[in-house]
Amino acid sequence: MTDANAFSLPPLPFAEDALEPHMSAKTLSFHYGKHHNAYLTNLNNLVRGTDLATLPLEQLIAKVAGDDARKGVYNNAAQVWNHTFFWSSMKPRGGGAPGGRLGRMIDASFGSLDGFKEQFKKAAVAQFGSGWGWLVQDDEKLSIMTTSNADLPLAHGKHALLTCDVWEHAYYLDYQNRRPDFLTVFCDQLVNWEFAEKNLK
Ligand code: FE
Repeated sequence: MTDANAFSLPPLPFAEDALEPHMSAKTLSFHYGKHHNAYLTNLNNLVRGTDLATLPLEQLIAKVAGDDARKGVYNNAAQVWNHTFFWSSMKPRGGGAPGGRLGRMIDASFGSLDGFKEQFKKAAVAQFGSGWGWLVQDDEKLSIMTTSNADLPLAHGKHALLTCDVWEHAYYLDYQNRRPDFLTVFCDQLVNWEFAEKNLK
């Protein structure tokens, strides 16, 4: 059945094996093809035929945030958005150092790039259970936040620049229980600073 108003899964910005050896094709295949896709299917099933189905995804999320009666819609919509944002937060041969305005803002906000990495990893490792680590912008100041389960900065009036998925499904096949190792690799080998810079207000 075709559904003109259905949300769709954006293509991955790279091939499934493009982040090897840091994130395996098997992890990306399951994470994108099964997990991300399941959130999308759930969302479409939940909003089909309602006024929510025609909204842009970010507007839909803002509209149902905090509404306990529509928690399922929020969770699935947020997870669709979070994962799309996460894929773009990485790139093949990522890592390195951000330049320009973002580089200056990181130095001003965290002392140095190493200061950022240390605080980001610490916060994301400490996120109990499933969730997300974020770099967010508040005017000229950057900060780190973590969210639980599907929750995201948008629902808290925060502007996201970058995210790392710390649900176990993001790293278990490659790193098992070693979330700190996954975060080190994310910061040093995968992070897409150009994407974060592009998201600056
Ligand atoms: Fe995930």
